[in-house]
Amino acid sequence: MLTDPFDREHLWHPYSALGHALPALKVARADGVLLELADGTRLIDGMASWWCAIHGYNHPVLNQAAIDQLGRMSHVMFGGLTHEPAIALGRQLLAMVPQPLDAIFYADSGSVSVEVALKMAIQYQAARGRPGRHDIATTRSGYHGDTWNAMSVCDPVTGMHGLFGAALPSRRFVPAPATPFDGQWDAADIAPVERLFAEHGDELAAFIIEPVVQGAGGMRFYHPQYLRELARLCREHDVLLICDEIATGFGRSGRLFACEHAGIAPDILCIGKALTGGYMTLAATITRRDIADTIASGEAGVFMHGPTFMANPLACAVALASTQLLLAQDWQGNVRRIERILRERLAPARALPPVADVRVLGAIGVIELTAPLRLERIRQRMLERGIWIRPFGRLVYVMPPYVIDDGQLQQLCDGMVALVEGLQAEDMRA
Ligand code: PMP
Repeated sequence: MLTDPFDREHLWHPYSALGHALPALKVARADGVLLELADGTRLIDGMASWWCAIHGYNHPVLNQAAIDQLGRMSHVMFGGLTHEPAIALGRQLLAMVPQPLDAIFYADSGSVSVEVALKMAIQYQAARGRPGRHDIATTRSGYHGDTWNAMSVCDPVTGMHGLFGAALPSRRFVPAPATPFDGQWDAADIAPVERLFAEHGDELAAFIIEPVVQGAGGMRFYHPQYLRELARLCREHDVLLICDEIATGFGRSGRLFACEHAGIAPDILCIGKALTGGYMTLAATITRRDIADTIASGEAGVFMHGPTFMANPLACAVALASTQLLLAQDWQGNVRRIERILRERLAPARALPPVADVRVLGAIGVIELTAPLRLERIRQRMLERGIWIRPFGRLVYVMPPYVIDDGQLQQLCDGMVALVEGLQAEDMRA
């Protein structure tokens, strides 16, 4: 059976209602870029399990790393104990992330790494004798996760602010960066940040932003100059810059980390998702030693966070294998190949009536529609085309595993375009 009655009645899925949701499709196994459903149907995965599975599924190198580590220990507490997987992964990460980041906090999910980053910023400012700097600034159209404070810095409209109302801490929002990635930089874009910092800079602990690619908040690609200006303003006003690279990290935008497009290093970096090649959950919040030292000089004398599964050895071992696997290949050439095919094959969608925009950056391809899609109306058509995509709102988008071959990627893109071409008024929300 393609769907499961127990699942439908008892298991929540992301952003779903029990019993009422379009029942989830049952996956029996996954290999390379293919998801195999319970009835044997094979789908080309356009989502990489939400940015994660960069090397594809069931990869022998990642499998072996997990098996080897399993034989040693799957987990030990990180309080007072350490282990080789955490150390080796740490060394590897510091060789990859923008300099001079050199202090790592392993967290258990992207949202938690954002919580950790925000807490670091607050403790840092308090330790410097500025407890009044407890506000956080961010842009509109951002997305940073689903936990309480992560939610509070998501876009107020596309995020969950309305639902949670006054229970959610209120933050300082500036408009989303408007100059497109490859557009002509418009200095007016950064003016709202200049004004905010001039008026409220001394209340701000940090500014959090997804560098260059705003993901779940709208799949927008903005101009790297925005980041450069923002980094400068943050420095001038003593506001910590937090870059959330949970989605963009590990090559997705064409650079190892998207902040490299701007040549800047944040004060705090959040990574997750593709860190383990999509095998299991692991994230990290990485900052500088001087920030860590300042936090330690504060009232508590320590940084106040410590998850039970911090630095899980299994996850660290697989993450090490995944990052080494990425760096051992011509990943940049490969992402350029994916980018070129996405550009070629998604371009025909531009002329279609329900399409507002088509954009591609690195291994990310987006068709933006003029109205939101009804997922339940298009799923069968997607299955018939042998592709797995998960549009949300007006966005039909893909970020496939990097191991996708030319033919599979062409089938994926052609399937997306055909799906959009076949859309009727009743497939869209008014
Ligand atoms: N930040 C960004 C930019 C993300 O895309 C996501 C996940 N979609 C998160 C944070 C939250 O990560 P997680 O789902 O692992 O908590």
